[in-house]
Amino acid sequence: MNASFSPARFLDFSGLDTLIQAIRSAGYRCMGPAIENDALVLRELTGARELPRGMQAEQAPGQFKLTHDAENRYFAWANGPQAIKPYVFAPRESLWQVRRDEKGSLKFESFTPQPEKTALIGVRACDLAALTLQDAHFLEGQYSDSSYAIRRKSLFMVAMQCAEPAATCFCASTGDGPTPQSGYDLSLAELPDGFVVAAGSEPGQKVLSMLDLNEATPEQIQSTKEQGEAAARRQTRSLPARDLRPLLMNNLEHARWDEVAARCLACGNCTAVCPTCFCHAALDEPDAAAGKSLHVRQWDSCFNEGHAYLHGHNVRPDTRTRYRQWLTHKLATWHEQYGRSGCVGCGRCITWCPAGIDLTEEVAAMAKGS
Ligand code: SF4
Ligand code: SF4
Repeated sequence: MNASFSPARFLDFSGLDTLIQAIRSAGYRCMGPAIENDALVLRELTGARELPRGMQAEQAPGQFKLTHDAENRYFAWANGPQAIKPYVFAPRESLWQVRRDEKGSLKFESFTPQPEKTALIGVRACDLAALTLQDAHFLEGQYSDSSYAIRRKSLFMVAMQCAEPAATCFCASTGDGPTPQSGYDLSLAELPDGFVVAAGSEPGQKVLSMLDLNEATPEQIQSTKEQGEAAARRQTRSLPARDLRPLLMNNLEHARWDEVAARCLACGNCTAVCPTCFCHAALDEPDAAAGKSLHVRQWDSCFNEGHAYLHGHNVRPDTRTRYRQWLTHKLATWHEQYGRSGCVGCGRCITWCPAGIDLTEEVAAMAKGS
């Protein structure tokens, strides 16, 4: 917890609704976990009674299955397919349009998003780490992305410690979880009788001070610490802590790329669910009858054929070179761009890959043969 904020408080389960109402009264629409199509997704939440209490999620390569939590906890799963990404980097948005006015001159008009102030309830440590990486990409370079910046400012993060990592999680090995360390407005850790709550920002402190809560006891704080450590120990997957640039960039012709390409469907699911992927396509949609053309940005994937098409030539003509591009960018050349790996260990690309391809296995196989 940031030292400038008040000590952590204890919120019993009956107070969870009061917290949600306090966030709503501060002007935020709350988006929290909900069950849809047998998955956990974020949907608007008006009260604690709507939370899918007592659920867990078993995850494995290519598999996500909801199960019941014997302890009837509120947040006893790791993550669903959605990260924070769609709330800052819109899957599809109009950036500008050009039209002819009555005198025949071209007029350019830009679009400015007007997002509702939104609180995301139950954000995981890996996703906060991923948001820091997205910030580096969209805000901290030579040019700042104004649409991203506006959406980013509208968010209020209610982080949740992971007590039940999925079998696909490996955030402990990347140093990004399972306990949120920074980047949140409020941070919660669920115990058998309630939550330890801490503020991490002025807006978070303001919401916390609206609640009449006792200070968390040293025993409760120690329990959350031990819970986080136990969750980290239960993770069975990992990425090597060492810099993977030499391994991957010195093995661009390794036979393993052919082997993985034989299984990969090039569907792009892994890039859609990845909280750090930021590739997009820019499209123009002309409407000759209306005398205007719309310029649109939408998510793209390095697995799409068109993403590698440059001036009459496709620079990545097959699945082998596209998978290689994905993995080498994510784990190797990302270091050159942003000073660290582009993987925060959320495991989504493993769970949501229809072929069950596991990047930790791919890296291990590459390391074995090198
Ligand atoms: S690795 Fe899996 S999710 Fe990614 S493109 Fe290939 S089949 Fe699709
Ligand atoms: S590469 Fe996979 S495990 Fe790593 S951040 Fe992206 S989706 Fe998560």
